[in-house]
Formats: sequence, structure tokens, C-alpha cells
Amino acid sequence: MRANGNGKLTMRPRPERVRNVCVYCGSGHGESPIYAEAARTLGRALAASDIGLVYGGGGLGLMGEVARATLEGGGKVTGIIPDFLSEREQMLQDVTDLIVTADMHERKRLMFEHSDAFVALPGGIGTLEELVEQLTWAQLGQHTKPIVVADIAGFWSPFLHLLEHMRSQAFIRPGLEVSYGIVSEAADIVPRLQAMHAEAGEVQPATLIKF
Ligand code: AMP
Repeated sequence: MRANGNGKLTMRPRPERVRNVCVYCGSGHGESPIYAEAARTLGRALAASDIGLVYGGGGLGLMGEVARATLEGGGKVTGIIPDFLSEREQMLQDVTDLIVTADMHERKRLMFEHSDAFVALPGGIGTLEELVEQLTWAQLGQHTKPIVVADIAGFWSPFLHLLEHMRSQAFIRPGLEVSYGIVSEAADIVPRLQAMHAEAGEVQPATLIKF
């Protein structure tokens, strides 16, 4: 399916439980096999919990691992990839839904709209950028969807320290708090997301802006 972008952000009604999770992760495998194992564990857990995976549509690295594990577990996968990356990131053809977008902005908007929650597995600057974008949107009150940082083998520890530093230097401060969960085991991601979802409130429609 080719996306028909109109530039507007759609907020779907908040479901009773998390039904679709956006996973941001590396297009590489990283140094340690622990990362790929975590990606596969998450994929299997999503399928077993009847939660759809929304991800960047590629077949490489941790992205491919989480998508294939979800599919092999009988789960639903929505791949959202910009046209110009479909070859380079070896777009997975056998996903449940494939959305080819005109550009990165449309990809990110659709990944947001299709998801009730976000997870960052280990990854590179693409993963970092996507994670930080969701943190900033949440910080600015644009959504209350849970964000979980999967700190597999301490991968995100330098980033988490940076956030602490920003807090200690009062750049992250009351009224501009950043809200996220941290887990160190892939098996804890889904239960944490569901718990955070149950605690979260609705975003107030008056505060919604278009990205
Ligand atoms: P990486 O973590 O760098 O391996 O990238 C993971 C995914 O993020 C890949 O699908 C990239 O296409 C995507 N990506 C790269 N740069 C960006 C960006 N600026 N915004 C959003 N996604 C990106």
C-alpha cells in the first residue's frame, strides 16, 4: 500500500490495552548476539500477547529479527518504509501490512499513528532520533503513549546518564518532565507497556498540534 499523506496527525481513540507497539531498533545487529536475542524475544512476546508490531519495514539487523520473530510466532506486522530505503534496507515483503511512504516524515508520522506505545531496542542514530522524537512529543503533551527504553546489557546507559545530567542541570525540569520506562530484560517489555498504558491518561484534545 502506498501512503496517501495529507500532513495531518490523527489521534485514534485510546484502546483498553496496548494493541500495536512501535519498535525502534538498529538496522544492524550490533556487536553482541544478546541484542538480536532480545529482538527475537520481543517479537515472540508481541505475537503471544496478540499485539501487532509496527516498525520501519526493513529486513536487516535487529529490525529484521524482531519482525521475523513476530511473524514466526503468528503475530501481525506492519512495516512502514520510505520508497528510497526499500532496497537499501531490504524491505520485508511478507509482512502483514506494508506501507511505502514518500519520505521519512510521513514514515515517522504513520509509525506514530499506528501505535499505542513505543519501545527502543539497541540501535544507531536512526533509533536514537526516533526515540528522542517520541520523548519530546510526550514532554510537550502531544501524547501519553508509553515509551519503554529496553536497556539490554546496559546499552542505553550513556543516554540515560545524559538525561540525568540534563535533569541535574535543570534543562529537564518540573513542567517539562520526560516520562519513560526502563527495562533491562526483553521479557519485561510487554508487561511494562501494559502497566504504563493502564496508568496513563488521555491527552487533552485542545493541546494537540499538527506535526
Ligand atoms: P539505525 O538505528 O541508525 O540503524 O536506524 C534504524 C532505523 O531508523 C532505520 O530504518 C533508518 O532508516 C531509520 N532512520 C535513520 N535515520 C532516521 C531519522 N533521522 N529519523 C527516523 N528514522 C531514521
